[in-house]
Amino acid sequence: MAEELSTKWETPLTSEQNPHIKRGRYSHLTQTDKDVLSRIVEGRACTSGKELADANIDWLRIYRGTSPLLLKPKSTWEVSKILGYCHNRNLAVVPQGGNTSLAGGSVPMFDEVIISLKLMDKIISFNNLSGALVCEAGCTLQSLMDFLDAEGYTMPYRIGPKDTCQIGGNMSTNCGGMHVVRYGSRHAAILGLEVVLADGSILDLVTTMKKDNTGYHLKHLFLGAEGTLGIITKVSLECPVKSPSQHMLFIGVPSFQDVLKIFKKAKYDLGEILSAFEVFDETVMKLINKNLKLPNPLSGESPYYMIIATAGSNRRHDDEKMNAFLSQLEKEGAIQNGFKESRAEAMKMLWSYRENIGVAVKRAGFAYKYDVTVPHDKYVQILTEVKTQFSHLSSCIAGFGHFAEGGLHVNLVTFRTHPSFSKLIESFLFRRVKDVGGSISSEVGIGVQRRDSLHYSKPINAINLMKKMKTLLDRKSILNPYKLLPSNLDGQELLSKL
Ligand SMILES: Cc1cc2nc3c(=O)[nH]c(=O)nc-3n(C[C@H](O)[C@H](O)[C@H](O)COP(=O)(O)OP(=O)(O)OC[C@H]3O[C@@H](n4cnc5c(N)ncnc54)[C@H](O)[C@@H]3O)c2cc1C
Repeated sequence: MAEELSTKWETPLTSEQNPHIKRGRYSHLTQTDKDVLSRIVEGRACTSGKELADANIDWLRIYRGTSPLLLKPKSTWEVSKILGYCHNRNLAVVPQGGNTSLAGGSVPMFDEVIISLKLMDKIISFNNLSGALVCEAGCTLQSLMDFLDAEGYTMPYRIGPKDTCQIGGNMSTNCGGMHVVRYGSRHAAILGLEVVLADGSILDLVTTMKKDNTGYHLKHLFLGAEGTLGIITKVSLECPVKSPSQHMLFIGVPSFQDVLKIFKKAKYDLGEILSAFEVFDETVMKLINKNLKLPNPLSGESPYYMIIATAGSNRRHDDEKMNAFLSQLEKEGAIQNGFKESRAEAMKMLWSYRENIGVAVKRAGFAYKYDVTVPHDKYVQILTEVKTQFSHLSSCIAGFGHFAEGGLHVNLVTFRTHPSFSKLIESFLFRRVKDVGGSISSEVGIGVQRRDSLHYSKPINAINLMKKMKTLLDRKSILNPYKLLPSNLDGQELLSKL
């Protein structure tokens, strides 16, 4: 998704915003290093200009680094050579996919070398019988969706920035999206990976077999690792067939109790064909209307809006199910208004409401964004508590999410940033999320933003085990340092924070 650059504020350097994070004892890049690394990617290194500047800033324009070198390898061999050299020279690197991360993971903290996978965008093979797709890590999600569409297949997930984000980035963040309720997380669909480790060695775990019980399932380690354990260069994924029968409901709902009721009913009545269950509140609808210039498709306003999608194999059967579902909801008064849509172009248009919520929020001002998981019945309680606590600091607080998995996105928009603001919100929100048994990151990951909050969702011994695994795979910690793991806190310090 192309989004214009915001001119509302200059992005400060992440290192200045976080003076407590000190640059590690890495080597400083010399002219010789630049020459050697540039030769590996002949003509595809960038040492100045807009491309390098853009690669140093994240999508939200909150995080900014000062990397003097962007490398764009075209093969696993080149990635391996780059990492081998950086490992020997003790140079820190940051892998970059589509740079749509919302937690600051994809851009340098200081002067790390940026390794962009964008030119590794080849589809290697596709098996039209099993649905096994093997491709390079830099393929964008949209390009894979287009390729599979022509084969009668589809990707098992869909997220807003599909034109830009890459499959390697999607795996590295274990991204969620709209269809987790139907196809599960990235862990469910992954068949294999090729990864270049910190020292440049290549770990070939690519297979097109669904079942492989030969010991530790190493590929899963790299999902959600945010580039801290290795650079993913190839992905093998099981793709589902494209359902010939797809339908969507767009409805306005009078109360949260009705949202819960509809969710339960959808699981029973739509069962095997349910493919998405999205909820957003009236604040979000207003932001969509104003900032995306998309009118409310319903005739009246409601406190909650929902998109319920189905994907099945029999149009008549699914149509009957959806019609019966909608008319029962109307009869029971569980919805205020709504309609069913089955035309492909019209559904694409309705999806754009949901997929561009992030853009609508971004255009409203500076947004503090959180994506947490909470039990379904606590969704509105947590959102209301945040609104009560922080409405005096925000111009608006929007709530939306992939409701089926308990995903709640809380976005606090303000025209003014304050260094203490995020700390204040996080210590309140994350504690409440912990209290109700949720997770502080439902999908976008940890990055820089939440690394010192990991203890809200992981026990100390789990964090310590993660650190040991990091040391085992990346002895010099050159891969995306300053991200995901709380670096300076040992178990005891963390314990005192709980
Ligand atoms: C408008 C908007 C909507 C979004 N909606 C969703 C959503 O619904 N669900 C969701 O889960 N996320 C969502 N996101 C977040 C983001 O798009 C996902 O996290 C996505 O998977 C990131 O992919 P990317 O290619 O842009 O990775 P990047 O942002 O480039 O990188 C993300 C992390 O992965 C690492 N990385 C990237 N490529 C590799 C690689 N090949 N090997 C190793 N490490 C790598 C980076 O170092 C970084 O730590 C949204 C973002 C935006 C802007």
